[in-house]
Amino acid sequence: MKVEILGAYGGSTDTSFLTSFLIDDFLAVDAGCLTQTLNLENQAKITDILISHTHLDHTLSLSFLVDNMFGLREEPIRIWSGEEMISGMRLHLFNDVTWPDFSVLPSADKPSLTFNTVGEGQTIRLRHLNVTPIWVNHVVPCFAFFVECTETGACLLYTADTTSTDRVWKVANERPRLDAVIVDCSFPNDMEDLARASGHMTPRLLAQDLSKLSHDCSILVYHIKPMFEQVMRVQLAELNLKNLMVGIQGRVFEL
Ligand SMILES: [Zn+2]
Ligand SMILES: [Zn+2]
Repeated sequence: MKVEILGAYGGSTDTSFLTSFLIDDFLAVDAGCLTQTLNLENQAKITDILISHTHLDHTLSLSFLVDNMFGLREEPIRIWSGEEMISGMRLHLFNDVTWPDFSVLPSADKPSLTFNTVGEGQTIRLRHLNVTPIWVNHVVPCFAFFVECTETGACLLYTADTTSTDRVWKVANERPRLDAVIVDCSFPNDMEDLARASGHMTPRLLAQDLSKLSHDCSILVYHIKPMFEQVMRVQLAELNLKNLMVGIQGRVFEL
C-alpha cells in the first residue's frame, strides 16, 4: 500500500497544505488540498474519497476537484462518509448556493459525484483495500478510518481530528496487525483547554492516548497548526517516542 502525504497541516499557508492523503493513487483520505497538490492527470486518477468530517480543512478541495473533472470523467467520483457528514456536505457545501450540487450534474442519471453512506464499524471494499470507519472524539461527527490491503495485510489507521478517545484504540488493539497510525496533534501543551474544546490533541494528550495502543507501529503526526509548528516540534521530540515523526508533505511511504 502506497501512502502519499499531500497536506499535513491544520492550517493553510503558502507552504502548509490542508489535510489530504492519497493511497495507491486512487483513494483520497480527506480533501483539504487535492487540487493544490495534484496535477489534472493525477486528480483524474482519484475514483474514491473518504471524508472523515465536514470541516472545511478536510472538504475544501472536493468542490474544485469535481469541477475540474466535470465533463472529463465517465464515472462519478465516489465520496464515502457517515450519514451525518453526507447530509452536512449536501446542506452546507453542495447546496446550489455555496457550490453547485454536482450529485445531479450534468444530470441526475449521470452525476459528477455520488455520496455513499458507510456505517460505523462497517467494512467496505474499494478495489484491493478494506476500509472500516470508527467514531472518534471531535466537535462534529468524525470518523477514523482503518485501511487494510487485502493483498499484503498491511493496515493503516487514520484517526482524523480527535481529542482524547478510547474506542479507536480498543478497535486497533483487537486487530492482528497495524503498521502505521496517522494522528492529530494540533496545539502546543499550554493550549490544552483549547485543544480539548476544539476536539484536538496536544503532544501531552497524544502521548497519553498512544499509551492505550498496544501495537508497536509508526506514528505519523498531522494537523499541526502552522503558527505553533516550531514549539510543537520541540514538544513532540521531548516525548521520546522512537516511532513518532511529523508528517512531511510530498513524502511517500510504503506499508
Ligand atoms: Zn475538524
Ligand atoms: Zn481538521
